[in-house]
This record gives sequence, C-alpha cells and structure tokens, in this order.
Amino acid sequence: MSERGLRIRGHHLICLQYFHGQGYSAEFAHHLFTIVDRFTRGEKGVAVVGADDVCIACPSYALEQCAQEPESEHAIRVLDALALEMLELDEGQEFEWGVATLSVQRIIERWRALACEGCEWEEQCRALIDQTAGYRRR
Ligand code: SF4
Repeated sequence: MSERGLRIRGHHLICLQYFHGQGYSAEFAHHLFTIVDRFTRGEKGVAVVGADDVCIACPSYALEQCAQEPESEHAIRVLDALALEMLELDEGQEFEWGVATLSVQRIIERWRALACEGCEWEEQCRALIDQTAGYRRR
C-alpha cells in the first residue's frame, strides 16, 4: 500500500465491485476480502495502471507484474487504461470506494460489452451485475 491509500489497477477497480468470494486460491480470496473490507471502512485508493495491491497476493504475480500468460501484463495494462478512461480517473488519482462504486455502476454495461467477454469470472459476475441493473435504471 502507498501512503496515500490502496493501489488499485484500473480493471480491478471495476472487478472488485462484484467480488463475492471467488479467487485463484483461498489465500488470494482472503486477500481480496481484506481489501474490500478496508475500503468499506473508509480507506482511500489510488488508481494505477499495472500491478497493484491486489496482484501482490496473486499466484500469477511474478517480477512485479502479471505473469498469468506471457503477454498478460501488456494486455491487462490496456484494460487498466480503458477502465480509468471510462471511470474518468487519472493514473495516480485518489478515489473513495463509494464514489468508485457509483462510477462503476454508471459504466458497467459499456464495460461489460467491451471487456468482460471471455473472462473466466464472467459467469460469477453476471448475476450480481444484473441484480444492480435495476438501480441504475430508476
Ligand atoms: S497478477 Fe494478473 S491475474 Fe493476478 S490479480 Fe494481478 S492482474 Fe489479476
């Protein structure tokens, strides 16, 4: 964590909103719960492009970057940048979790069309995204 808050890469800022226990390992899922808990207790975040405070507990994290697949880090940085652009956040900008939640709800349908297809977690997220769709349309 930086002195300014939890460092969160762009696409994680969106994905974390729909986290409900899934993860690459039990330890990693516990780490994600801890991060969400800290945010809901009022801790601030800093938007980043690249490895963040989520990645550090991931089994695929190596040499300070995502090593899930050979080109993962580059491809995910593109996703991070897209997420920050859609959320109207600059790299290095601080954010509050509650404000980020509302911002994600505003863009989630477009994000889903652009970024979620083929993601291994798409199925788990779908029900939660659909559940919150009603709030956005009111
Ligand atoms: S290291 Fe890669 S797979 Fe793991 S949390 Fe970070 S971006 Fe996701």
